[in-house]
Amino acid sequence: MNARIMDGSALAREMRTEWRLRAERLSRIGMRPGLAVVIVGENPASAIYVRNKARACDEIGIHSEIHAFPERAGQDEVVRRIDELNRNPAIHGILVQLPLPRHYASDAILAAIAMEKDVDGFHPCNVGALVLGSAALWPCTPHGVMRMLEKYGIPIEGRHAVVVGRSNIVGKPVALMLLQRGATVTICTSKTPDLAGHAQRADILVVAAGRARLITADMVKAGATVVDVGINRLPDGRLVGDVDFEEVREKAGHITPVPGGVGPMTITMLLCNTIEAAERAHAARTASVQRSSC
Ligand code: NAP
Repeated sequence: MNARIMDGSALAREMRTEWRLRAERLSRIGMRPGLAVVIVGENPASAIYVRNKARACDEIGIHSEIHAFPERAGQDEVVRRIDELNRNPAIHGILVQLPLPRHYASDAILAAIAMEKDVDGFHPCNVGALVLGSAALWPCTPHGVMRMLEKYGIPIEGRHAVVVGRSNIVGKPVALMLLQRGATVTICTSKTPDLAGHAQRADILVVAAGRARLITADMVKAGATVVDVGINRLPDGRLVGDVDFEEVREKAGHITPVPGGVGPMTITMLLCNTIEAAERAHAARTASVQRSSC
């Protein structure tokens, strides 16, 4: 069998076309969606990610601004800026680029973002809403994974999903989303004694471990859906996922490539969350005007 490739680049393009129209609609009524990205320190990879996000915003019609702080800036200074952005009506989404320098309390910084502007979905209230299964801004990478499963018609309810990795940004939220959709979910970590045994029972295998080619064909059930979130750079400079793509594609039913799978969906979901946050702000403003005129 040769697996069907789940093409994240194509889906991201298709979604951006649709969401550009939503951004345009908001701009026409004077509510151009706005994203503020806060970056602290001089991490070169973070600087590239931030530039890519700003470019993607520009392409889809979102106003973006970058708020850069040197590493020596105090945490209070960053929180004060987040407070200002929380109150700025032209900004609908705020994102703090991670990782922050070690001496920063990331949790406190993320919690300073207004819940309704938390387009990364990392605020404790948005995390709580995800746990409870209520409406929230979902974290971008796991949300992108769910959109890909939806796009390719992968049944989730009643299926066994195995998630490899338990990080707050990928593993845990994607496990909760799958659980919410009715899957039976197993989460594996670096301490799991028999990773292969668990992986072999997966109808849907989501891998977010950050270990090049951790998953080989013998660990995959024939016909399974394999979603590779991992991004690893090999010594020769090539980018590979956590799944041995060439081997596993012979056995899986569906598989995401790296690059071109989950990666392009992550920024796309950030754009969607920002536009959605602006739509909600517009709806709230309209409702408040209507109430005050009654
Ligand atoms: P992370 O915070 O380092 O978490 C990795 C998780 O994998 C941990 O829970 C760890 O277990 C588990 N793990 C590591 N080795 C394992 C093994 N041999 N067997 C089973 N579990 C193992 O990483 P992350 O932020 O979630 O990111 C994971 C990967 O996804 C990275 O390659 C990252 O670059 C990539 N990523 C991609 C995107 C995208 O847009 N495509 C977005 C975010 C992340 P313990 O908890 O026990 O240590």
